[in-house]
Amino acid sequence: MSRVALVTGGSRGIGAAISKALKAAGYTVAANYAGNDEAAGKFTEETGIKTYKWSVADYDACAEGIAKVESELGPIDILVNNAGITRDAPFHKMTREQWTQVMDTNLSGLFNMTHPLWPGMRERKFGRVISISSINGQKGQFGQANYSAAKAGDLGFTKALAQEGARAGITVNAICPGYIATEMVMAVPEKVRESIIATIPVGRLGEPEDIARCVVFLASDEAGFITGSTITANGGQYLT
Ligand code: NDP
Repeated sequence: MSRVALVTGGSRGIGAAISKALKAAGYTVAANYAGNDEAAGKFTEETGIKTYKWSVADYDACAEGIAKVESELGPIDILVNNAGITRDAPFHKMTREQWTQVMDTNLSGLFNMTHPLWPGMRERKFGRVISISSINGQKGQFGQANYSAAKAGDLGFTKALAQEGARAGITVNAICPGYIATEMVMAVPEKVRESIIATIPVGRLGEPEDIARCVVFLASDEAGFITGSTITANGGQYLT
């Protein structure tokens, strides 16, 4: 029987590419999403991947959602924490709401999703927790004090939890994408996009599939010696 993978924010953008790549690699995939029913419906129609709606910012909803996925598909061995939002503003204009929303989704979302799954992974002596952080969590970004703090927090979470999971066969890793050609980035005016591309040594934006391939590798049995690490996938834009 194939392993079950759950991808948060798995019906659009980078998450959709991750869901599809995991399915192509032989996993049974569940894609979570927050509220865009239309996109989720279209995604299921196109891929045959089941979608499940709840907010990763809500602990109880995560526990319930996970229980539902497991009752339908079986125990979840692979968790991809991909769901994320931006609420950008220069710090002097940033509201508490903008701060809290980003923290609740991009950082607490990792706790809310990983915590209910952790006992089962420990019991089965196998697990993969893969979180999508960001280049801006590594280097900081003007107008993103909230987002950069949360994404840097994801890396601390990953390194701490990797130590706790190691003896139980659970690896915990993060991926830091650079600029990826999702709807959000393609909506930026072409001139601005070109100025961004000029700062990327490989000379192009990343594709969602560039990130999806990293996830498939980290999810595999062959990646069992890699834990607590960060894969930087940014075309050379920022070297750590
Ligand atoms: P998109 O905005 O295209 O998609 C975000 C996905 O997350 C959607 O499926 C959305 O659901 C879901 N989502 C948002 N909030 C929640 C929530 N509270 N609970 C459950 N699901 C939620 O984002 P990207 O594909 O661009 O980004 C994916 C991840 O990659 C994010 O963590 C982002 O920070 C990170 N990243 C992206 C980069 C880029 O260049 N695009 C660069 C670096 C990192 P719904 O469809 O219902 O709205």
